Amino acid sequence: MKSENLIIAGGGPAGLAAALYACRARIPTLMLEKVSPGGQVLITDKVDNYPGFPQGIAGYELIDRMLAQARRFGLEEKNGEITAVHPPEKKGESVKVELSGGEILEAASLIIATGASHNQLGVPGEEELVGRGVSYCATCDGPFFNNAHVAVVGGGDTAVQEAVFLTKFASKVTLIHRRDELRAIKLLQEQAIDNPKIDFAWDTVVESINGSDKVESLSLLNRKTGEKSTLAVEGVFIFVGIHPNTEFLRGTVDMNQWGFIRTDDEMKTSATSIWAAGDCREKVLLQIVTAVADGAIAAHSVDLSRGQA
Ligand SMILES: Cc1cc2nc3c(=O)[nH]c(=O)nc-3n(C[C@H](O)[C@H](O)[C@H](O)COP(=O)(O)OP(=O)(O)OC[C@H]3O[C@@H](n4cnc5c(N)ncnc54)[C@H](O)[C@@H]3O)c2cc1C
Repeated sequence: MKSENLIIAGGGPAGLAAALYACRARIPTLMLEKVSPGGQVLITDKVDNYPGFPQGIAGYELIDRMLAQARRFGLEEKNGEITAVHPPEKKGESVKVELSGGEILEAASLIIATGASHNQLGVPGEEELVGRGVSYCATCDGPFFNNAHVAVVGGGDTAVQEAVFLTKFASKVTLIHRRDELRAIKLLQEQAIDNPKIDFAWDTVVESINGSDKVESLSLLNRKTGEKSTLAVEGVFIFVGIHPNTEFLRGTVDMNQWGFIRTDDEMKTSATSIWAAGDCREKVLLQIVTAVADGAIAAHSVDLSRGQA
């Protein structure tokens, strides 16, 4: 690629919005994605809070539209996982991006948009039974649980939204939350509370996931009363927060204690020629609408910085 080029790491909403803005600014842009473009939106059944779609829009369809729009303006794409980043040592040098196969790419600027991944509960049985009743994606696995009793663990927006979604298939959904009230926004709480298929296990944590070949039950502990119980379920969907996909950047850019990248208002990181956008950066609201805003700002800032290196 020519000098003054841009590499975008990650093809979720932040990466795709950055790509759109960069391509329209005529910056030669390569988007690197380790799986396939879309990020977390691909595991979202329906997005109801992205402006412009009064009836909501399916996650995959929103991504198809974002991708088509960026491609229309000349986006280049490459499949690859970034494993290390080397910022320029001197003014005028490029950023070096290392891929898992050992290939090294160079760019004048780099936008990190590698997003976030789900947390695990970290209880016995979880790893052993992934794909056999333990799931982190209701859109992907919900249809396997027709007329079954399933559990959802978590109390935030994603957990509650996905619990409501799962009632399309399951006969009963038990929402297990370690506190006595949900963190999710009120509208989602109302949808869950009003849904006759959903019941709640408050102040409760999962101690183990049990089953020899597939999930059969959960061992639960009520944190307030100390009471232990067993809940027979065929599936358990875990939504207990996320962690940023930034391990490969440790020691390269400034991060908070959880690994979220610190940026300024222009999405610049502490390292020369490196920006960050979306769920991988430290901010208060991790959503599609803020991810695309970050991506647009980062690309705009890259454009303004060109010629200043
Ligand atoms: C189940 C679920 C439901 C949700 N529902 C909603 C909703 O209704 N509304 C809403 O606004 N938000 C919702 N969200 C949150 C929303 O999806 C995220 O805020 C948004 O996707 C963040 O976009 P992003 O581009 O920053 O990161 P991501 O979407 O995480 O995309 C990051 C991309 O980077 C790639 N990547 C990671 N590491 C590397 C690497 N080393 N090299 C190359 N590529 C890499 C990943 O494969 C991924 O494609 C939901 C999330 C989940 C999990």
